[in-house]
Amino acid sequence: MYKRILVTGGAGFLGSHLCERLLEAGHDVLCVDNFFTGTRRNVTHLLDHKSFELLRHDVTFPLYVEVDEIYNLACPASPIHYQHDPVQTTKTAVLGAINMLGLAKRLKVRILQASTSEVYGDPTVHPQPEEYWGNVNPVGSRSCYDEGKRCAETLFFDYIRQHRMPAKVVRIFNTYGPRMHPNDGRVVSNFVVQALKGGDITIYGDGDQTRSFCYVDDLIEAMLRMMATPADQHGPINIGNPVEFTILELAQLVIELVGSRSKIVWKPLPSDDPRQRKPDISKAREVLGWEPKCALRDGLVKTIDYFDGLLGVSAHEGVE
Ligand code: NAD
Ligand code: UDP
Ligand code: UDP
Repeated sequence: MYKRILVTGGAGFLGSHLCERLLEAGHDVLCVDNFFTGTRRNVTHLLDHKSFELLRHDVTFPLYVEVDEIYNLACPASPIHYQHDPVQTTKTAVLGAINMLGLAKRLKVRILQASTSEVYGDPTVHPQPEEYWGNVNPVGSRSCYDEGKRCAETLFFDYIRQHRMPAKVVRIFNTYGPRMHPNDGRVVSNFVVQALKGGDITIYGDGDQTRSFCYVDDLIEAMLRMMATPADQHGPINIGNPVEFTILELAQLVIELVGSRSKIVWKPLPSDDPRQRKPDISKAREVLGWEPKCALRDGLVKTIDYFDGLLGVSAHEGVE
């Protein structure tokens, strides 16, 4: 059924893929973004689409529009970006959630929150099931993001209880793919860009820390399925790829796939950097009938292609 769908953070990495999928499914898409980390370039190819509208707006301010469904993704997501202006990060997570929940309440429509595995902090339970309450430092350099996202979850569940809203929360684990920001410091984009430029590959810490990497198309599929669940399915539901890699293994795989001569160099581990992260996706399997299909190797090839093209354009335009 045709719907008018609001995507906040729609000009970002995940948001732009989501907008694309929703347009392909025949919906009208209102993409709202303040372009803090997202760029117009991520959605340039959609601008001529008759069902696509782009609105520059900051979700910390109220938004009065008429839509049938809301995906709330607006929030810087990488440590470099969310620590750049930490007060603004908390405001975006918390005030953005309040405003979008207020909008969903007035319109009596579904709203889905893009939460994060960071709500588990540096986890002491492995892999992380949804029932785990997490191990989060409330006053560290990651807290603006972790606690902001935790508070947003609290708001979602209080609106659900207080106003009986069909609201939903997914907890997204590390996701990668084309349109990741080249300078956002995340491990996949860093390694791929470093390997393509033939520069040093920077491993923070001993490289034994683990992450589980989900390809963007798999992730978007899970978000769409979550939105389509019955009104009383609120989550939270973990979505991510449960195949775990050490950061050193990732570095070696990127070097191999790029065919790069890059050398590995070792740098200090940032504070509060989680040791291990891997989603327990039993609930996603059961409720959404979903599991990731794309292996890291295949997803990395597509991501490397994207960055190869991007670096070519940047070099041509003389910009980094
Ligand atoms: P991104 O930085 O590419 O996208 C975020 C978008 O939100 C950007 O386009 C940015 O300009 C916009 N934005 C930021 N503050 C805003 C504000 N105040 N008002 C309006 N727009 C604003 O990051 P992403 O990886 O696409 O992440 C999207 C969402 O998914 C975020 O909420 C993030 O917390 C969540 N998430 C992502 C990952 C991941 O691995 N990519 C993991 C967990 C959670
Ligand atoms: N809001 C919005 N768009 C709407 C409705 C509400 O941006 O269409 C914002 C508004 O700024 C409000 C917030 O959402 O402060 C929370 O709305 P809610 O109705 O839950 O709370 P209240 O207005 O009672 O504070
Ligand atoms: N990391 C790294 N080198 C880099 C960038 C990141 O070794 O150039 C490490 C980082 O310390 C962390 C892991 O890779 O242990 C994942 O980092 P990212 O910022 O991508 O995601 P998050 O820590 O939020 O999961």
